[in-house]
Amino acid sequence: MIKTDSNFNLLNSNINNLIKSTIYLNRNIEKCPTCSSKHYIKYGSFKGIQRYKCKECDKTFSSASNSLWSYSKKDPIKWTKFVEYVLERKSLRFCAEKLEISLVTAFYWRHKVLHGLTFDSIPAKLSGDVHIAKKLILENFKGCRNIIPSVRHNIWVVAAKDYDDSIIVKPISRCHWHLPSFNQKIYYLIEKETYIVPYGDRYISLVAKAHNKKRIKEVQSDKLIWSFQIIIEKWLKKYHGVASKYLEKYLSLFILFLTKKEINYMDLSKRLCIEFRFLKIRDIGKVNYKSTGVLL
Ligand SMILES: [Zn+2]
Repeated sequence: MIKTDSNFNLLNSNINNLIKSTIYLNRNIEKCPTCSSKHYIKYGSFKGIQRYKCKECDKTFSSASNSLWSYSKKDPIKWTKFVEYVLERKSLRFCAEKLEISLVTAFYWRHKVLHGLTFDSIPAKLSGDVHIAKKLILENFKGCRNIIPSVRHNIWVVAAKDYDDSIIVKPISRCHWHLPSFNQKIYYLIEKETYIVPYGDRYISLVAKAHNKKRIKEVQSDKLIWSFQIIIEKWLKKYHGVASKYLEKYLSLFILFLTKKEINYMDLSKRLCIEFRFLKIRDIGKVNYKSTGVLL
């Protein structure tokens, strides 16, 4: 019995190593993660993962360095499952119980995955007819222990969608409409010859008027943008409130939900590992999860 168990454990660890080495096999290392030098040499391998040594700073690193999960001692089967759970919008408590990880780990992992997704959430450009709507979301200080707000302001969240179903959804400003911020975050993506269709906001209507230059076109309204306010409110409700400081990250998952693109969580998990999407824990928030707006 004991022998079977130890064999099983060995098999499991071999499978995990195999997955890890496959994931990192084709990863391109561009530079030394310590000093950014491009002069490095191959330096053996460990558990199937190629190691390198930097000729400038002498530090060693591997194909797995600076990837999303590089310092995780947990096995890749758990990461992959976790990515699936994030896409299914499972609660952190659910993830922690199912995968036998702590709530703190689940909290950081969710942020890593969301962080990874943010890179895909910006389309290269918006063209054709571009439909734009906004939603005001009341500021949320969940987890910010030191902030006792006397007034909560609105966050302006703007969604823009083009003929090709490319969508961007971004928090633009706090309290008031801020044109420079809109320009910087969304308008730069809109091509000159596009036609902007505004939905129920006077500031967005002004932007459209200036952009469309007296052109008046009959455009069929876009269902998603038409009901954007309701959809986003419903979607955010599931998380029982998202702290405003994390709103942008959650919106990248929201975009996936909106576009309803076929998501292969295995592919996504692999991509998140390979591409340079490393997020340092100190960038997420304080270590005490009770103070970080953890969404249980
Ligand atoms: Zn170096």
